[in-house]
Amino acid sequence: MNCEIPGPLRKPEVRRILKAIKEGEVTEFKPSLSYERGVFYPKIDKILPDSNLDYGFLEDLERYGILRKEFYDAIVTCPSCGSHRLILKLRCPSCGSTRLNKGSMIEHFRCGYVDLEDKFLKGGNLVCPKCGKELRMLGVDYRRPGVFFKCGSCGSITAIPDQEYVCGDCEKKFDLEELSIKEMFTFKVEPNGRSLIEMWSIDFGELAEVLGKAGYIVKYPATLKGASGVEHHFEFALLNPEAPNNVEYVIDVELEENEINEVKVLSFFAKAFDVKAKRKILVAIPKLNRRAREMAKNYKITVLENLSPKDIPSAVLEAIKKKKDLL
Ligand SMILES: [Zn+2]
Ligand SMILES: [Zn+2]
Ligand SMILES: [Zn+2]
Repeated sequence: MNCEIPGPLRKPEVRRILKAIKEGEVTEFKPSLSYERGVFYPKIDKILPDSNLDYGFLEDLERYGILRKEFYDAIVTCPSCGSHRLILKLRCPSCGSTRLNKGSMIEHFRCGYVDLEDKFLKGGNLVCPKCGKELRMLGVDYRRPGVFFKCGSCGSITAIPDQEYVCGDCEKKFDLEELSIKEMFTFKVEPNGRSLIEMWSIDFGELAEVLGKAGYIVKYPATLKGASGVEHHFEFALLNPEAPNNVEYVIDVELEENEINEVKVLSFFAKAFDVKAKRKILVAIPKLNRRAREMAKNYKITVLENLSPKDIPSAVLEAIKKKKDLL
């Protein structure tokens, strides 16, 4: 089985979502709708409160068998810009006017006159405005065919006015035939989704135990205060048990869809330097680019590349064992 972490699942935000799924915090992501935001997923916003990640990664998680999508609802959107902020206008099919009066219609059988109910109302009774006769019994001398629209400009009556939509964002005008329909989906965690995530997670538990038994203070994840006073986060840190302020090792894992660049190497070095770490290991998945590798070499950073998640802890242990003074 291929244990490589698929590229789209290496983004830090996506890893946080995967962690929440793995730990059983969520079993499904249900969409919500608001005029401000359109379709959104409250549970994702809760896990990633300050991210503006688009929800496309949900489709990725479906593609990799972690989630399954189910139809939830659908909304209409602008065919031009995709916005959900639409304004609906009703127009007279005869003259195009928006000056429509809506109401319950009455048809007087005797003279055939049809108009809105309020035109028939006279002192609490119904009186035909055309022939002046009083309407007496529903179904006998008049009927109510339902709700209709009467044009205030040309007087024509219709049950189905033309619909015109105006996009609240790009101001495009379009009709029913042109509009787009956007489906909303609930994404449910697949029964074997958690074991898939397990396969793509890096488990440092065993490594921590081995190094702990070897006499080191192990922290993972580790937050260490640097000489500058800033707190730095590392995936893993080994401290000297005799002098816990002495940081023997810092280890970080960087994941990217493609090659990892020198910015990541530089920031790792800066953090390690600030906490006065003696040795530095950077696990790079899939690998560093050429310039980043040169930089890592100059900064004396041990680099571990092209590893499957399950092989990372043992590779880290091997790298530590190579320095005999530490184990
Ligand atoms: Zn009449
Ligand atoms: Zn009209
Ligand atoms: Zn638009």
